[in-house]
Amino acid sequence: MSDRDDDDRGAPSGGGRERRYYSRPRTCQFCSDHEIKIYYRNTQLLSSFVNREGKIRPRRQTGTCAKHQRAIAVAVKRARHMALLQFAGEALN
Ligand SMILES: [Zn+2]
Repeated sequence: MSDRDDDDRGAPSGGGRERRYYSRPRTCQFCSDHEIKIYYRNTQLLSSFVNREGKIRPRRQTGTCAKHQRAIAVAVKRARHMALLQFAGEALN
């Protein structure tokens, strides 16, 4: 358990879950908003789908549906290859 992860992640929402993770949107944001394009150059968007280690965040954290999660994964990998996104971020320990 490290305390310093909490600073930029927003307050944990109330409820039963004790995880320090963000409140998860219930619906896939890409399904609900067709304006958002999943594209490897959109690093601002993609960076919200990787954690500080540089790993792609799991669907249960982001609320993304399977179809769009796959698209995210592909886009993140492309962005990494183009050096737009990190392969490995900060170590957490
Ligand atoms: Zn979706």
